[in-house]
Amino acid sequence: MFLKLLVLVAVVVGVWQAFKYAQRLQLRREEKARLAGDPKARARENAERAPRAQDLVQCSVCSAYVPSKNPPNCGRPDCPH
Ligand SMILES: [Zn+2]
Repeated sequence: MFLKLLVLVAVVVGVWQAFKYAQRLQLRREEKARLAGDPKARARENAERAPRAQDLVQCSVCSAYVPSKNPPNCGRPDCPH
């Protein structure tokens, strides 16, 4: 009984250590790719940094909802953006 418990604990610790090792390898690989200027890694990093949602404001002329920061001009001559 005690031996079974010991084996179980050893297996759990082994799996835990394996996960830690795999995580460290993954981090090292991503760091290396980032330093090498891998466009995929850079794109993933930018996506993580990018805002998830944007505030929108309604244009008083065309009634379209545009981002409150750097709103695009809708093309009408009296567009306030
Ligand atoms: Zn407009």
